[in-house]
Amino acid sequence: MLLSKAIELRQEAGPRDGKNQMTSIDALKESLVNAGRILADEDQGDYIFGHVTARLPGDHARFLMKPHNIGLEEITPDNLITVNLEGEKVAGDRPVHLEVFIHSEILRVRPDVGAVVHTHAPCAVAFSSLDRPLQGIGNEGALFHAGIPVFSETADLIIDQSRGKAVARALASHDVLIMRNHGIVTAGRTIEEATVLALFLERACKAQLMVEASGGAVHTCSHEDAVAKTARISTQSGKVFDYLTRRVTTESA
Ligand SMILES: [Zn+2]
Repeated sequence: MLLSKAIELRQEAGPRDGKNQMTSIDALKESLVNAGRILADEDQGDYIFGHVTARLPGDHARFLMKPHNIGLEEITPDNLITVNLEGEKVAGDRPVHLEVFIHSEILRVRPDVGAVVHTHAPCAVAFSSLDRPLQGIGNEGALFHAGIPVFSETADLIIDQSRGKAVARALASHDVLIMRNHGIVTAGRTIEEATVLALFLERACKAQLMVEASGGAVHTCSHEDAVAKTARISTQSGKVFDYLTRRVTTESA
């Protein structure tokens, strides 16, 4: 969902906590909170590991990030930290993740990207060990019919700037990346888009794992159908994010 739409929806909902409207930063923080809860709810939490970031509105060089030592579902507007493109924390009380350079280096070289998600998505990690191309088993697999890059330079954590740059090079102009024996990276214009891409990629990998365990696919989505489905589904990430936000909100009510 575009940030402007999020703000619009919030304003339609009426005053909240005595405020007539949220600032764009408040709305962005709320989206990051919801992204963390959604990813955890969809089994992409890995205890205190995995992180989400979003570039600050109007500020190319700084971004909000989930801090280290808490779970994805424990993000709040107040514990988010602010980080610069050198991977240095510039605001916030909590520590920065060792793997901050995944985010800082992608955001440095991709002005079209507003948000980055990195998780150790279990099915994607398992699938990455097979060294198989992702197939159009179901709808989600078809979304990635053009092929997705795999980062294989190391399976270790990305703890310095040079490795962060290598991840950004591997992602190139794509919006998803599988990190072999490690996890995934998704890059979206918004945190909503990056989050839903992470969910779609994990579901695509899960479907193929099931099929591989049954001997492999006999039929996969044709290129023509994959193109058509991609056009229909890829525009729906905002609505999917909204639905999942309602779901995690209802669960905690
Ligand atoms: Zn990682």
